[in-house]
Amino acid sequence: MFDEPSKLLLNSALMNPLNSILAAIISIFPRWIIKPFAKPYVAGETITEALVHIKVLNEKGFSATLDILGEHVQTNEDATVITNSYVEILSAISEKGLNSNISIKPTHIGLDISYETARDNLFRLLAIAKETDNFVRIDMEDSPYTDASIKLYLEALVHYDNVGSVIQAYLHRSPEDISRLNSEKLNVRICKGIYSESDTIAFQSRSEINDQFILLVKDILAGDGYAAIATHDLNLIDALEDWISENEIAPERFEFQVLFGVPMSGRLQSLLAKGYTVRQYIPFGEDWHDYSVRRLKENPAIISYVLKNMFKKD
Ligand SMILES: Cc1cc2nc3c(=O)[nH]c(=O)nc-3n(C[C@H](O)[C@H](O)[C@H](O)COP(=O)(O)OP(=O)(O)OC[C@H]3O[C@@H](n4cnc5c(N)ncnc54)[C@H](O)[C@@H]3O)c2cc1C
Repeated sequence: MFDEPSKLLLNSALMNPLNSILAAIISIFPRWIIKPFAKPYVAGETITEALVHIKVLNEKGFSATLDILGEHVQTNEDATVITNSYVEILSAISEKGLNSNISIKPTHIGLDISYETARDNLFRLLAIAKETDNFVRIDMEDSPYTDASIKLYLEALVHYDNVGSVIQAYLHRSPEDISRLNSEKLNVRICKGIYSESDTIAFQSRSEINDQFILLVKDILAGDGYAAIATHDLNLIDALEDWISENEIAPERFEFQVLFGVPMSGRLQSLLAKGYTVRQYIPFGEDWHDYSVRRLKENPAIISYVLKNMFKKD
């Protein structure tokens, strides 16, 4: 999934001291110790396991977006293997009638090899997604890839309308990107951004990032586009929900998105009860270890949460 945890998350000072120590040393733990902690965040190692999780979430009213863990493939063969796996996923979603689309990272389908490699693999996925009435979201990686990822999105939009992009609220450039992209075809996930970026191009303070997050979502919804509001920040969700209802924005114009396994204090169920679409981002695959360590470092409170669940009687 997303590579490097952002400083702002690591700086979260609300940690209990024991959790903070555990978070600092967790990378050196063997895989068998990490595995129980990984469980809430990762939907298994295989497509079959991930699809079972999606079925369960669908039955609870959630939509899903499936992500194969990993990034930065360096050979055409590896980029093809990942693309083939996404093809298999799109076919399985269609055969099983599941409510899920896919999220792909450009470097996972070949952007480090060449722009053309990533584009060809993306177009292959978009063609299958179109046949199966599905949708492909292009995740946003760190800033060296922003221009190429937006270019991929714009080129895809010329041929397909079942494609979306991601804009990160921490980047100074993002409002300009949104106004450049804004149209009825625009389908963008707004997230805070997970990578460490320099203060010359990105806000570092939580309040500036939050303000820009709200501004970007409003910009999209005040225009004609579709916004996927991707955050676990309950204050942001509150603020945007209020604005959406005051401005009578139709529920077909936006959705809420969260990462699989992040505790949300019952908030997701209340969003569903209001008739909103809530999509869970479901990562799975053999690369579960590094991803889970990053999630645990982001929120060490999850360590006590998992320990409690491990020792709780059913
Ligand atoms: C659906 C989805 C898709 C995303 N796609 C991208 C992308 O394409 N590119 C990109 O750069 N970033 C992406 N991100 C990551 C995003 O940029 C943030 O870094 C991350 O989600 C944390 O930000 P937040 O909005 O939840 O706010 P924060 O202020 O970081 O967190 C709000 C609250 O949620 C808790 N929390 C946050 N994350 C976790 C976690 N993993 N586990 C447990 N608790 C947590 C925090 O402790 C805090 O209490 C995505 C996030 C989501 C939810």
